[in-house]
Amino acid sequence: MKKLLSLIITIFTISIVAQNNTSYWQQHVDYTMDVDVDVKSYQYNGTQKLVYTNNSPDVLYQVFYHLYYNAFQPGSQMDARLQAVTDPDRRMVDNIGTKENPIYESKIAKLQPDEIGYLKVKSLKKNGKSVSYNTEGTILEVKLNTPIQPGEQVIFDMIFEGQLPVHIRRAGRNNKDGVALSMAQWYPKMAEYDFEGWHAHPYIAREFHGVWGNFDVTLHIDRSYTVGGTGYLQNPQEMGHGYEDKTKKLNIKKGEKLSWHFVAPKVHDFTWAADPNYTHDIRKTRSGTELHFFYKNTSTYKKAWRDVQPLTEQALNYFNEHIGPYPYKQYSVIQGGDGGMEYAMCTLISGGKKLNGLVGTVFHELAHSWFQQVLANNESKHSWMDEGFATYISGLASDKILYGGKGKPSAKQNRGYFYAVKNGLDLPLTTNADRFNTNTSFGIGSYTKGSMFLSQLNYIIGEENVQNTIKKYYEDFKFTHPVPNDIKRTAEKVSGIQLGWYLNEWIQTSHTIDYAVAEVKDKTITLARIGQMPMPMDVSVTYTDGSAEEFNIPICMMRGVKPTKSTILNDWAWGHPKYSFTTTKEIKSVAIDPSGLMADIDRSNNIFYK
Ligand SMILES: [Zn+2]
Repeated sequence: MKKLLSLIITIFTISIVAQNNTSYWQQHVDYTMDVDVDVKSYQYNGTQKLVYTNNSPDVLYQVFYHLYYNAFQPGSQMDARLQAVTDPDRRMVDNIGTKENPIYESKIAKLQPDEIGYLKVKSLKKNGKSVSYNTEGTILEVKLNTPIQPGEQVIFDMIFEGQLPVHIRRAGRNNKDGVALSMAQWYPKMAEYDFEGWHAHPYIAREFHGVWGNFDVTLHIDRSYTVGGTGYLQNPQEMGHGYEDKTKKLNIKKGEKLSWHFVAPKVHDFTWAADPNYTHDIRKTRSGTELHFFYKNTSTYKKAWRDVQPLTEQALNYFNEHIGPYPYKQYSVIQGGDGGMEYAMCTLISGGKKLNGLVGTVFHELAHSWFQQVLANNESKHSWMDEGFATYISGLASDKILYGGKGKPSAKQNRGYFYAVKNGLDLPLTTNADRFNTNTSFGIGSYTKGSMFLSQLNYIIGEENVQNTIKKYYEDFKFTHPVPNDIKRTAEKVSGIQLGWYLNEWIQTSHTIDYAVAEVKDKTITLARIGQMPMPMDVSVTYTDGSAEEFNIPICMMRGVKPTKSTILNDWAWGHPKYSFTTTKEIKSVAIDPSGLMADIDRSNNIFYK
């Protein structure tokens, strides 16, 4: 009996270990959609065949779809949040007060039935049999009558209808530049299931996480409209609109509508925009990628949208070189949406009357093709990984291409972070993107502090190691869903320096860095750690004889040291708030971190002059 019991325990233990194994898997989707668009009512009807492959080790009893456009209805979570947050996104509200004393009104709350957005599922079948489903806000909950087994492939057939809302955020009709259709998040989209379980998060404002797969999309739309978006057009000679091979004959069918057929392999979303008054330019780049530009054919936009084209190619080359090769044959910069937003193989960008306003946005959104569209981290959970890294690399590209600089990280952008710390707005970046207290807090956290994760890493492991980390991270994790530990492990493998402490302190807490020169007595320098967060020290010392010496003090948790020409001193163990070392000559001045890359919140105590 005892023997049997121990055998049972052994078997049970093995099965638990197997279920918690860390070997990577991801779900797979193949969408085929056929959609008929009414450009007058902004409504559309579609069929969707979704071949879903369960690569997980789990039996699935239910599935979830996102119905994003249901957010644009009075009383939705997005509407309620907009009214509750103290600093609402200005694009989404009307100010009925004054500039000094603003009173904000939610634009969503005022939408009429023919102006709201919606996605309605009319029927849903799994392997030919109807399944029951329930719409809760922006999520469709589907109970399966028969579960999906590990490794099984099933087919979901759906009939749906949608209405494109008045443009408020990201997608919509007639944005402020007058682009007719900005079609992002426009179809019922299967939620991601991964090692953490389902990610059926409601659409409140931000952001997205999709299942990897292939899309085959046919759009029937008024023949005067030019369509740009994700995917390769399969029938260019039948569409024209600038897609055609000019050396071959056009073969455009008669009738009210044209049927645009797009195919997009290895993506996790599909976005498009359409307008009857688009200019469509194509730039064939030396790297082989075709850049497409779609913009309103008016004198207001023409100049900047033309001038940005060669610069976009330069940015593409920069990212190809500094991250890794862009894996698609096409990328489209499309006027639409609001501000700028990244999508698969394209971006929607509004405005662009002046080149200097447009180019920064194009660089940032293009950078997202690597950091989010290919390295598809969960944007809701780890927004710092896509926003921060896109900010970091597009900042280096801008510096190099636009300002003729060295394309090196600088401390200039850290100001926003210091502002956040000073005003109590700095939250741990483990906070879900929708649940930051304020938009300011989210913005500074994801963009600035996220970017500083990499710029400060230059200080910790050295510039060349960071450059190689970015390349290896891309090579190892492209077309997957990397998580924070993956960038950390990559940096560790490249540098030989342990970085668990860094990921933990910088991302998972809101601890701050403050080091000081506490005392200089004869030839002995004493440094003090005032902030909670540990950091290695670069210390610059000048001597009374006019010479200078650089010192580096690693922290013991690093179990290593960055490549440096500095004099390397003994490790500083975090538990000790003070650290002293002795020089060989008479000291004139001492400075902590001359690079400025370390985010020390009080630099006034970093310098000592005798
Ligand atoms: Zn971004």
